[in-house]
Amino acid sequence: MDLSRLWARLNPLTSPFALLDILIVALLFFWLLGVIRGTRAVQLLRGVGIVLALAIIVGTVAGDQLQTLSWLLTTIITPTLIVAVPVLFQPELRRALESLGRSSELIGRPLTGANRSEILETITIISRAASQLSQQGVGALIVIERTTQLQEYADRGVLLDSRISTPLLLNIFYPNSPLHDMAVIVRGTRILAANVVLPLSEDVIGPRRYGTRHRAAKGISEQTDAIAVVVSEETGAISLVQDGRMASYLTEGRLRSMLAGLLRVPLEDEGK
Ligand code: ATP
Ligand code: MG
Repeated sequence: MDLSRLWARLNPLTSPFALLDILIVALLFFWLLGVIRGTRAVQLLRGVGIVLALAIIVGTVAGDQLQTLSWLLTTIITPTLIVAVPVLFQPELRRALESLGRSSELIGRPLTGANRSEILETITIISRAASQLSQQGVGALIVIERTTQLQEYADRGVLLDSRISTPLLLNIFYPNSPLHDMAVIVRGTRILAANVVLPLSEDVIGPRRYGTRHRAAKGISEQTDAIAVVVSEETGAISLVQDGRMASYLTEGRLRSMLAGLLRVPLEDEGK
């Protein structure tokens, strides 16, 4: 395509939809990159990109010379990738569609049935408990429910429905307590259940190789919009996991402000 034709296509006066077209495609890519950022899909996508780029280069530059390679790339590998991508990216695609369907998340209150000061209180209680558990080298996994109901997971654990407090959280996670194993689910200002088994993430690569506690935190955050707070028994590190992404080595203050940000209760609101 020569330059004048390209200009004519992009000229907003002659083709007003070209800009809109580009804008929509750019937004789509922006959204897609946002969905997969920090997940293992990034590496996968890079691999797919390299193979596609190779196929295009070989096809256009050396299609006549390297006939077998070009045949292999264009008739076998590229179609295989087209079939394989939806399979490989199934969790990411699922998450992307779910987050679209969950548009209420954008406008609605993230924590079911609790007001702002109650949410802030819950955040403070969880952060304090995480910090104390970390200091004592006690492992813990606390899952905070948002719009996706976690009832099906809670039902498989031990139902508590108790008012949340720091001492109660400590008590639950202390070793030898009957409920210390697995995860606690928090709904609003209440501990819904303890001893809850969560789905494990396939992802094991992180700053260090994740064990099951961290994979469970990642797993629930990949399958739902819940937020997980993990205290490592081995390192004492406090992590926050959301949407399959993990932020580790948090202080009590940092955890609290990140939770406040995710649950949309600005800390500047404090005291109001
Ligand atoms: P840590 O840093 O605390 O050692 P880790 O990520 O290395 O954590 P493990 O050492 O395997 O993980 O932690 C084991 C604990 O993880 C178990 O005692 C249990 O409490 C918890 N756990 C294991 N599987 C699950 C699961 N499916 N759902 C929730 N919690 C789980
Ligand atoms: Mg471990």
